[in-house]
Amino acid sequence: MPTISSRKPYRVGRSRTGLGLFATKEIRKGTRILEYSGPLLDCNKEEDDAVENKYLFHLTARWTIDGSVRRNIARYANHACRPNAESDVQPRKRKVYIRAIKTIQPGDEITYDYGTDYFKEYLKPIGCKCAHCEKKRKLARAEARAAKKRAKARAEKRALKLKMNGHALNGHAFNGAVGKKTRKR
Ligand SMILES: [Zn+2]
Repeated sequence: MPTISSRKPYRVGRSRTGLGLFATKEIRKGTRILEYSGPLLDCNKEEDDAVENKYLFHLTARWTIDGSVRRNIARYANHACRPNAESDVQPRKRKVYIRAIKTIQPGDEITYDYGTDYFKEYLKPIGCKCAHCEKKRKLARAEARAAKKRAKARAEKRALKLKMNGHALNGHAFNGAVGKKTRKR
């Protein structure tokens, strides 16, 4: 794992999906946290255009940053659908910065939205694991469980009603029998 000097307000650490980027200090809203860096790829060059990995950051129709290099610490920042940072893209300077869009507390994971193309290609097929989507899934599971419980309760109530109707009939016959018995005494 790359070493990061302690004056930087972040570190690489374990996240729910592997590694992630975490704040070590309070990062004020609007702060440029770090640069998303790597070799510039020119899609007009065949060998550049052939590069394929998950860390490509498209700047313009022509230029792409290959962020897969180890020195690019920003590549550890995971995607989130409700992030606390964003990618601040400077196409003319051919630079990208990760910028806080909320004040981030020490220990918080630093996340940004990877964008719809990435989401569709890489996250949707496996299911987004961000906190927001996990919470949504958890709620959906709880809702499904509750619906199942309600259906079961309804079925039980129906069964009980049938049973009670049955008992009422039986009870009638039984009462008759009792009446006979009493008369016998
Ligand atoms: Zn998500």
